Amino acid sequence: GHRAKLIDGKGFAAGLRQQVANRVAALKASHGIVPGLAVVLVGDDPASEIYVRNKGRQTLEVGMQSFEHRLGAETSQQALLDLVARLNADPAVHGILVQLPLPPHIESAAVIAAIDPAKDVDGFHIQNAGLLATGGRGLVPCTPLGCLMLLKEELGDLSGLDALVLGRSNIVGKPMAHLLLAENCTVTIAHSRSRNLPDLCRRADILVAAVGRPQMVKGDWIKPGATVIDVGINRLPAPEKGQDKTRLVGDVDFEAASLKAAAITPVPGGVGPMTIAVLLANSITAAERQSARESGE
Ligand code: NDP
Repeated sequence: GHRAKLIDGKGFAAGLRQQVANRVAALKASHGIVPGLAVVLVGDDPASEIYVRNKGRQTLEVGMQSFEHRLGAETSQQALLDLVARLNADPAVHGILVQLPLPPHIESAAVIAAIDPAKDVDGFHIQNAGLLATGGRGLVPCTPLGCLMLLKEELGDLSGLDALVLGRSNIVGKPMAHLLLAENCTVTIAHSRSRNLPDLCRRADILVAAVGRPQMVKGDWIKPGATVIDVGINRLPAPEKGQDKTRLVGDVDFEAASLKAAAITPVPGGVGPMTIAVLLANSITAAERQSARESGE
């Protein structure tokens, strides 16, 4: 029978990192600037620890400088704000990322608001969110921008397509919807209060699932020929692999959806690898814009 084409996020991400490396080399050659990305980790969340390590390694691999700041879980909000202010003022730092989630005694919104929007490579500052919503040129959140890149690679022009975004977080769902709207899709945003989710999904030429519920989207929710982007990263027990072993699954029932969709991202190996690659792309973009501004270009 029919099986959907696999969208190779891992391969696309490798190509994107190569493009970033070329841009880094070009900025060094033209302006003598080595782009720098600062990553701030507060506390010792093991998942965040792994992300930060991977970010640092890939930052160096594309030829950029990596600055890692590890602060104890008891760090005060003021101490973190002071660090952000120093990074804002540091000319060697072109991108700043504060790893979320922060400990509960620190107000994430206040910290994000303190980041210079020109260095906000996560795209979470309200100035960047506002620019995305109003069609301006800011920095765009990495995961949804990666999803858009995969969709354009797969489909080319997205104009007029029906897109359903499942999830409305500020990190994934909302910026994804804005990006698809800017590409002239007809966009629906669904969430935990939406009615008739299966029917909403069945209308979608493009389905982006970002809910954090393992295999929630069933095969018969998929419009035949749709393109499915599965953002979810969920860990399920996998006793078949041994005691206490787990496996990653997305928000979509991959096997069943593969029989209906034209193309689908696997988990792992789909959207996941895109996020850090886009972070690096945002960082070189930020460095290019800052250097152009400083040299009055
Ligand atoms: P959030 O928990 O912030 O948001 C989840 C959204 O899904 C909310 O809008 C929520 O609705 C909605 N939702 C939850 N349950 C249901 C339901 N039963 N029916 C319909 N909608 C529902 O998650 P994120 O956006 O941060 O992340 C989503 C997923 O993507 C997670 O699995 C996360 O691990 C993954 N992720 C992967 C990344 C990567 O690939 N690098 C990066 C970021 C996230 P409501 O608003 O009404 O509560």
